Amino acid sequence: SGGLVAHAESQSDKETLDQGEPKKKRVVVLGTGWAGTSFLKDLDISSYDVQVVSPRNYFAFTPLLPSVTCGTVEARSIVEPVRNIIKKKNGQILFWEAECLKIDAEKRQVCCLSNVGDNLAGRNDFCLHYDYLVIAVGAQVNTFNTPGVLEYCHFLKELEDARKIRRTVIDCFEKAVLPGLNEEERRTNLHFVIVGGGPTGIEFAAELHDFIHEDLVNLYPGVKDLVKITVIQSGDHILNMFDERISSFAEQKFQRDGIEVLTGCRVVSVSDKLVHMKLKSTAEDMSISHGMVVWSTGVGTRPVVKDFMEHIGQGSRRVLATDEWLQVKGCENEDISTIFKAADKDNSGTLTVDELREVIEDILIQYPQMDLYLKSNHLFDVTDLFRDSDGNEREEVDIEGFKLALAHVDSQMKSLPATAQVAAQQGTYLSRCFNHMERCKSNPEGPLRFRGSERHAFRPFRYKHFGQFAPLGGEQAAAELPGDWVSLGRSTQWLWYSVYASKQVSWRTRILVVSDWTRRKVFGRDSSRI
Ligand code: FAD
Ligand code: MG
Repeated sequence: SGGLVAHAESQSDKETLDQGEPKKKRVVVLGTGWAGTSFLKDLDISSYDVQVVSPRNYFAFTPLLPSVTCGTVEARSIVEPVRNIIKKKNGQILFWEAECLKIDAEKRQVCCLSNVGDNLAGRNDFCLHYDYLVIAVGAQVNTFNTPGVLEYCHFLKELEDARKIRRTVIDCFEKAVLPGLNEEERRTNLHFVIVGGGPTGIEFAAELHDFIHEDLVNLYPGVKDLVKITVIQSGDHILNMFDERISSFAEQKFQRDGIEVLTGCRVVSVSDKLVHMKLKSTAEDMSISHGMVVWSTGVGTRPVVKDFMEHIGQGSRRVLATDEWLQVKGCENEDISTIFKAADKDNSGTLTVDELREVIEDILIQYPQMDLYLKSNHLFDVTDLFRDSDGNEREEVDIEGFKLALAHVDSQMKSLPATAQVAAQQGTYLSRCFNHMERCKSNPEGPLRFRGSERHAFRPFRYKHFGQFAPLGGEQAAAELPGDWVSLGRSTQWLWYSVYASKQVSWRTRILVVSDWTRRKVFGRDSSRI
């Protein structure tokens, strides 16, 4: 979902051949987020007609969105207009500010609705034909159908969300100091509740805490002791996708800061004044009053992709399935039994270690997750796949045993995290495939196909993890770096500053972001409600 990049190929080679001069293939890209823009940046447009559809005509640097909620960084500093990116491509890419509503794989077209109102002819919908479609529409917030969430909660997913939160925080303070309120009412107005203890929720809580304690308490001294921040997390720990050392560092830091963390609580509904929840351990009901709730519990699939999944027989899945080449899973799949048959040279119905050794190279190229798994478990030898559930070595495995071993690897490794890092690498990978399409079709670089005799055209996508940050406020951050390294504290915050400055997509935004950081250090954050 988060890093959803997929492409669908159509069979139009014949058509274009009939027209004498080979026409450029039409590529339609849906979305201008991390995946979409990294694809466009590296694509060689001389061989394709490229059209881009997105309801937002800018790329947003999402890792800095939490900073926008409190004015540490201004909204315009973290966006890059799509048309600036197109300009760098000699303007040869067409952009339409519209939302794709339907993907029609049979007719090879996408139907879109412009969100800038009707054109002069009174129409705001249009369809685009494609030879290749790149789906990079990202994900949407997930409310898990909890009553009241859509009506009464804020989200932190899009740029507009961050701006709305910034205004609402100030509103809460202005409301709390109005005359005629009793202390309880002021407390309620200043109770900020965050649902979800993942990276986004925690980073926002930390930003909000800094904003309040570095800036707002000096501007609203009368209510400074009434402010409270609460994080509600359904699991037992916050930041539980990180290393244990990081989540306990974060919990201790929050405790010192006076940010309350309620773990093991599931929110069951939200109303304009109250958050209702259930304690997981005792099934006890609880409610707390709030001035503002930010809902950040994860993401789900967008309706346009859900609808597409229904049409291609993936309706029962949670996210669109793609193969190792990021192509929408269709009929080209090779299943485990084909690999098994190809490896089982003597047709005995079982694989021996030697038989597997002969094909393992190709399997590892095709299933990079298996390679990663073997390495991360410090298993460097394929014989380890031959161990049974009690850890005993076996001479041979049958197909069921082989399937179990692979399914185990799969369940450990298959789904990549929904992060910008994954999405950007997928975009870059795909652009490389498109750039080398002709060459790789005649001169394949991929692993041997287990079905049939040729090779796959491309090497499969392989994700490289560079680590992950969790800024915790007060110039403290935690980071998980490659090689099981954990780094905590102030120096990590400086590392965070330098990494995020260097990751900016253009020199313009880099300078804007760095000068925002400097401005905040010198003058504090701006509390005007604009
Ligand atoms: P997106 O970047 O969401 O892009 C989707 C694009 O599709 C957008 O341009 C959207 O306008 C467009 N679109 C939507 N619907 C349609 C439609 N119907 N038709 C056409 N276009 C459409 N990741 C990290 O690695 N590190 C971080 O520190 C980090 N911090 C984050 C902080 C926050 C607050 C958030 C919300 C996310 C963060 N992420 C982070 C996750 C990261 O933002 C996502 O994983 C990443 O954006 C996914 O990229 P994407 O290209 O798939 O989708
Ligand atoms: Mg055999």
